[in-house]
Amino acid sequence: MARYRGPLCRLCRREGVKLFLKGTRCYTEKCAFERRKYPPGQHGHNRGKLSDYGLQLREKQKVKRIYGVMERQFKNYFEKATKMKGITGENLLKLLERRLDNVVYRMGFAVNRRQARQLVRHGYFMVNGRKVDIPSYLVKPGDVIEIIPKGKELEIVKESLALAEQRGFPGWLEVNVEEMKGKFVRIPDRQEIQLPVQEQLIVEFYSK
Ligand code: SF4
Repeated sequence: MARYRGPLCRLCRREGVKLFLKGTRCYTEKCAFERRKYPPGQHGHNRGKLSDYGLQLREKQKVKRIYGVMERQFKNYFEKATKMKGITGENLLKLLERRLDNVVYRMGFAVNRRQARQLVRHGYFMVNGRKVDIPSYLVKPGDVIEIIPKGKELEIVKESLALAEQRGFPGWLEVNVEEMKGKFVRIPDRQEIQLPVQEQLIVEFYSK
């Protein structure tokens, strides 16, 4: 499946916000966004004010980049969100949070969603005891996510879990660090999904 292969820090500078795409580096002073808080490119310093359309577009791009989802798949999530009960923008974020690669990342098995996606693709995770290697698999409340025995030996997983434990886990997940497994207890509320996103702008973007 197609995916972005360019420089990741450039995406944070483009969106004007830290997207935490790299892992541990994002939490240090080496973070490119901390050092250069302006858009990339020759005219990065001199960009004018964005139009309404520009703001909506940027918000959509930001969320796509945070979750590492390409345009067509993102649009599918949006359409699904419009058919659900509740607020469309919030539904969209909740769907994205349920992706298996995101849950693996949120549980601390990987330092970023990109690494989580790779681990899932390589078959390192089980959902309710069955191997699932589809990053977009939608996790349901009550599902138990577990790394396979071979994966428990991976240094990247151990280091990532140790860091995640220090930072603390989200309230909608239960993680057993010793056993390297976790439960997706419930779908998070919007205020628990701590992302610097105005999802209403995305709804406006697609409603034109
Ligand atoms: Fe973004 Fe900073 Fe992480 Fe680079 S290091 S991906 S700029 S948060």
